[in-house]
Amino acid sequence: MLGLEIRQFPCLSDNYGVLIHDSDNNLTASIDAPEEQAVEDALKENGWTLTHILVTHHHWDHTQGIPGLKAKYGCKVIGPRGEADKVPEIDESVGEGDTYQFGRFKAKIFDTPGHTLGHITWYFPDQHVAFVGDVLFALGCGRVIEGTTDQLWHSLEKLAQLPRETLVYCGHEYTAANAKFAETIEPDNIHLKARIGEIVEKRGRGEPTLPTTIGAELDANPFIRADRDEVRMAVGMPNADPAAVFAEIRGRKDRF
Ligand SMILES: [Zn+2]
Repeated sequence: MLGLEIRQFPCLSDNYGVLIHDSDNNLTASIDAPEEQAVEDALKENGWTLTHILVTHHHWDHTQGIPGLKAKYGCKVIGPRGEADKVPEIDESVGEGDTYQFGRFKAKIFDTPGHTLGHITWYFPDQHVAFVGDVLFALGCGRVIEGTTDQLWHSLEKLAQLPRETLVYCGHEYTAANAKFAETIEPDNIHLKARIGEIVEKRGRGEPTLPTTIGAELDANPFIRADRDEVRMAVGMPNADPAAVFAEIRGRKDRF
């Protein structure tokens, strides 16, 4: 990971918390703050002190830990410009095209709206890692809560441009349920079949299925594959544009 230490841990019922650490400068950031106690436990376990919270979007299960953690550690809160008014105790806001220097590591910010209007992705290009919040999940994607399916599709298109090896940390462990749905779209996708085997094994051992990679999602996730001929054909929309195919798949998942 070229020096960036990353720890992922479960929070709430199905969220993940993530800490990233720069040992040279003794900096630690929490990606979102789903649950104060779980973040604190992870900090203690690693002997780290919280200096930053990097927020992806305003939903309570990503931000509710902020006030308590900030009171305790005096950490700096950096979040999405588009919804800065909804993120508690925010100190600095960032958006598309910005870079943010976390110690010796540089993050690039992408606006990735659709799930919420101001949702951002934190991408560390030199470390090949992206923190995507609730935009992309393993074999799934976020629900369209505030934005439009077009917006969410364009957000996924942006992530699809990242190098295949990019590690993707997501906000939730939804993979097993997503896999069941993905099978209804592409039952013959060999990559998907292989993934399902791995998922069953990992969950059977109580292990997380995340992080995933951009490459693994491009091979098996029907949502980010909405521009592929196989997926168009599978949903009976051979001539439709990808955003329409994506909207159809998102609609089917909502009713699944
Ligand atoms: Zn959310």
